[in-house]
Amino acid sequence: MTTIANNLQQVQARIAQACAAAGRDPDSVSLLAVSKTFGADAVLEAVAAGQRAFGENYIQEGVDKIAAVRAALPAAALQWHCIGPIQSNKTRLVAEHFDWAHTVDRLKIAERLSAQRPAHLPALQLCIQVNVDAGPTKAGVPPAEVLDLVCAVAKLPRLQVRGLMSIPDPAPSHEAQRAVHESARRLFEQIRQTGAPGLEKFDTLSMGMTADLDAAIQAGSTMVRVGTGIFGGRSRPTP
Ligand SMILES: *Cc1c(COP(=O)(O)O)cnc(C)c1O
Repeated sequence: MTTIANNLQQVQARIAQACAAAGRDPDSVSLLAVSKTFGADAVLEAVAAGQRAFGENYIQEGVDKIAAVRAALPAAALQWHCIGPIQSNKTRLVAEHFDWAHTVDRLKIAERLSAQRPAHLPALQLCIQVNVDAGPTKAGVPPAEVLDLVCAVAKLPRLQVRGLMSIPDPAPSHEAQRAVHESARRLFEQIRQTGAPGLEKFDTLSMGMTADLDAAIQAGSTMVRVGTGIFGGRSRPTP
């Protein structure tokens, strides 16, 4: 077995264990393989091991990789998620090439994605990034403003609002990680319970990475984004 296949198995086992500990169905948590900085060859290895959903941070790198992977495997039904910051001048690439975007935190970016999503593609699936631990320099909408943004984005055509995403700062303990993830979960439930129009598919809580996926699953994550645990350490930093 390749290292990537072996790592994927171990991450899946960790997810299953965290679900069992939390009394959750293992199928209620999906695994996004974060392939940023790794080449198309690494993605192909993961696909051969059964992985279908991939996350990219750098938009141009992601677009190039999507093309390379599609050329190698034209028939594979893969899902590509943009999980990096989206500047206005990059919205068109995201709208034209990705299936999901997790980092929307301004209405203007959502409006551009909506206008630029090609008519022949299904709606772009969106998560709103929330700055759940309120770091002053961090991306994400403040918790108090998230409902208004979700409702505004839900009205835009060619987009489907799927949920919330968060990237909390590293916390010193499992309990501290869990407490931050729990606050994201509460926000997510509050928004869901409004039953506001356009939230029919508001079912995704994108949180948890290699270091904290267990705590995130205990807190209710439905999608963990794992890079290092699958592909190994990265040699260059990412935004
Ligand atoms: C890099 C990255 C991940 C994966 O992080 P690992 O610690 O390598 O698992 C998840 N989410 C986002 C937004 C990232 O940028």
